[in-house]
Amino acid sequence: MEKVAFLGLGNMGGPMAANLVKAGFAVSAFDPAQAAMEQAAQNGCEPAESAAQAVQGASAVISMLPNGALVKELYLGARGLLQALETDVLVIDCSTIAAGDARQVIAAASERGIRAIDAPVSGGTAAAAAGTLSFMCGGDADAVDAARPFLEAMGANIFHAGPAGAGQVAKICNNMLLAIHMIGTAEALQLGVDNGLDPKVLSDIMRASSGGNWSLEKYNPYPGVMDSVPASRDYTGGFAVALMLKDLGLAMDTAAGSASSTPLGALAKNLYQLHGGDEKNQRLDFSSIQNLFRRPAGD
Ligand code: NAD
Repeated sequence: MEKVAFLGLGNMGGPMAANLVKAGFAVSAFDPAQAAMEQAAQNGCEPAESAAQAVQGASAVISMLPNGALVKELYLGARGLLQALETDVLVIDCSTIAAGDARQVIAAASERGIRAIDAPVSGGTAAAAAGTLSFMCGGDADAVDAARPFLEAMGANIFHAGPAGAGQVAKICNNMLLAIHMIGTAEALQLGVDNGLDPKVLSDIMRASSGGNWSLEKYNPYPGVMDSVPASRDYTGGFAVALMLKDLGLAMDTAAGSASSTPLGALAKNLYQLHGGDEKNQRLDFSSIQNLFRRPAGD
């Protein structure tokens, strides 16, 4: 059985690793969080005591970590994982990080003769569980092709966006747009509710009209409109406000670097900053931006 090391078993990595197991790979998994390790073991992964132990005998390493600092700490430096890997191991980093950080890791891998790609994902936790994620890959074509058998076990769409870092650029463009249409959707739903409409009826109308979009149709932010989305479980699980803020920061940094004009992205970042200013909101799903527009009860 071909062995894959999976590092980072959170909201996304946990179900992604489980799909690799279902596809017939032996998955050696590591996450410093005990609860994540217990869940991974229940899903058929082999628990490892460290990242270094997880990669023993693996033909690929897949990482799904919260940010670039952690990805660089994992792979780079004298005690980094790249020093411990055999040269025939393929590195696939699925975390959303700065394109510059991804290029740094891929260049360091290349110096050691190791193939590596950036492969951030879109689709959210539901697509991670269903194995229908979209992967946006950056790197050499042969490395992306070598990654396909692993990515196909976890996703439905595999795009080669361009050279190293290009997957991350595609990802932050997508997430900036996602933040913008989530905020617009929440604002429109609240306007309807404040004027006596049932949010479910309004959602049905806009879905069949020109306001239709992914946030409205697949990830409705108004509680009770859709089952199985974070809005219907008090905004738990899903994609944390803190992570959306990270992605909007990456989008703004990228825009500054290319002198691009992104006024709606900047406003979206401001609104998420306002929402995330309350510490407890940082951990909630990003669709909880709906609460910024909701009136306190009795108002
Ligand atoms: P998460 O916080 O739920 O999970 C991250 C996991 O990484 C945690 O369990 C943490 O303990 C673990 N971790 C931290 N350092 C580690 C290390 N050195 N080795 C191994 N594990 C380590 O985050 P998430 O929601 O799963 O997101 C992961 C990445 O995917 C982020 O970069 C995020 O931006 C991106 N993403 C998330 C979503 C989503 O809907 N949640 C969608 C697309 C992309």
